[in-house]
Formats: sequence, structure tokens, C-alpha cells
Amino acid sequence: MGTPIRHFTAARADGQVFTVNIERNFQYNPYRDFVVCAHCDWSPSLLTMERITDLAGEHLASAHGADLGLAHHENESFRKGRLIVLPIVAVILIALFVHLRS
Ligand SMILES: [Zn+2]
Repeated sequence: MGTPIRHFTAARADGQVFTVNIERNFQYNPYRDFVVCAHCDWSPSLLTMERITDLAGEHLASAHGADLGLAHHENESFRKGRLIVLPIVAVILIALFVHLRS
């Protein structure tokens, strides 16, 4: 449904990696994120970011036995998108500044 913007991953003792995604639906509701497990239908209602980290780790460990090397990564394309937006904002601010001074 949404676009995954963040991933939580943890590995099981046998090396299998499990993932919990944070998804955002840019089209319908860009202000609400969803937490979705990639391996079962676990999808808690969203709380704060710190809470998500705890919850995702807890879920991966208790439901899938993956309690090793919990990590979270930002989605690569989402991160790139933000890197493109920042310089554009900077250019607009500089243009505005130059315009105001002239
Ligand atoms: Zn799960």
C-alpha cells in the first residue's frame, strides 16, 4: 500500500534476516506512517519514533526469534529524494535573499 521509508532488520541465530518496514502513503496520507512486518501481518498502530524502534526490535525477537544485530536503515530512494530537496530549498532561500537586498 505505502512506500517503505525505513527498514528495521534483525537476524536469527541461523543467519536469516527479518525485516519490519515503516511505510508512508504519499498519495493518500503523507502525514501518517504505518509499521508493517514483512513476514507476518503484524501492524501496530503508530506511536513515536523511539517507540517504533523498541516495538520493531521486540516483535522481530519475540515473533521471529531474530534478536541479533537489530539495525534500522532509511530507504535509499527516500533518502536521495531528501538530498535533492535540500539544495533546492537552499537555492530558493539564497535567491530570495539576493532579491530582497537589491
Ligand atoms: Zn512479524
